[in-house]
Amino acid sequence: VSSLEEPREDHRICVCVRKRPLNQRETTMKDPDIITIPSDNVVMVHESKQKVDLTRYLENQTFCFDHAFDDTASNELVYQFTARPLVESIFRKGMATCFAYGQTGSGKTHTMGGAFSGRDQDCSKGIYALVAQDVFLLLRTTAYEKLDLKVYGTFFEIYGGKVYDLLNWKKKLQVLEDGNQQIQVVGLQEQEVCSVEDVLNLVELGNSCRTSGQTSVNAYSSRSHAVFQIILKSGGKLHGKFSLVDLAGNERGADTAKANRKRQLEGAEINKSLLALKECIRALGQNKSHTPFRASKLTQVLRDSFIGQNSSTCMIATISPGMASCENTLNTLRYANRVK
Ligand code: ADP
Ligand code: MG
Repeated sequence: VSSLEEPREDHRICVCVRKRPLNQRETTMKDPDIITIPSDNVVMVHESKQKVDLTRYLENQTFCFDHAFDDTASNELVYQFTARPLVESIFRKGMATCFAYGQTGSGKTHTMGGAFSGRDQDCSKGIYALVAQDVFLLLRTTAYEKLDLKVYGTFFEIYGGKVYDLLNWKKKLQVLEDGNQQIQVVGLQEQEVCSVEDVLNLVELGNSCRTSGQTSVNAYSSRSHAVFQIILKSGGKLHGKFSLVDLAGNERGADTAKANRKRQLEGAEINKSLLALKECIRALGQNKSHTPFRASKLTQVLRDSFIGQNSSTCMIATISPGMASCENTLNTLRYANRVK
């Protein structure tokens, strides 16, 4: 039974890659698809435009992950291999985290289910909704019923190193660390949720708050990290937590060269936090005693995810298939390769 108590240490980090289909624009521009998934854990990047013959390209780079999903994979399938295996751990006092990492437009928000626009749409079946569904199923099983747990949701974003509450009109919040190294986001709204429907309402509310007053929805959201958490409490005390993180776009280059000062600062901040994240996940994977979580606001507020015997993490690295995205795609694959 004890093996069920905690995720096995060698399974604490799971890194997967998801390729999205070519979009309309890429198809119109005849941008070639340079990504193949020859088996369910291998990603190949065919950098050369020239095909030698039907099966052979000039230059290939191969990467291996826990799983690789091609452009036909559904959110449900991706969920089964990434966040799903971690859900039960939060009932056993675990801290689970799932990250969507990749360049803007590669499918992070699509995967998480944050592109919410109407209950009937498929995108309501993203990872937010799928985790919620299983949490409420497990809550009502005989094994966990007796814990008398309550479920809460939080939703906030981190932009330029500052935390904003998406369930409270983007109120700016302070992050404090007490003498015991516990991190507290002061005043963060924790809304009790009793059903999947309640969770979807929170996601919808948070998303409308996230994008309100923005001229370009994607341009803005791509510069911030969005964190949605499902929290279990017992007798008012924290029992377990699942953090679902839609990270800021990891792209650099083009927009830094001609960027204004504000953009450069944004870019530097994102860079810093994604580097810090990589170091923290690596520290977790190697069971290091020191985790550099203070290196960014993102890793600071996710401290619980990196510390302790009962933390487990999965990363979904999303990639665009086109040649035009090649450099960003390779950067994403290299980053994902480093954390696994
Ligand atoms: P990101 O959040 O990484 O910037 P999005 O999730 O907003 O990217 O995706 C960009 C566009 O591509 C959206 O219109 C989205 O619906 C579409 N898309 C992304 N991933 C997929 C996929 N796996 N299948 C179909 N469409 C996708
Ligand atoms: Mg997005």
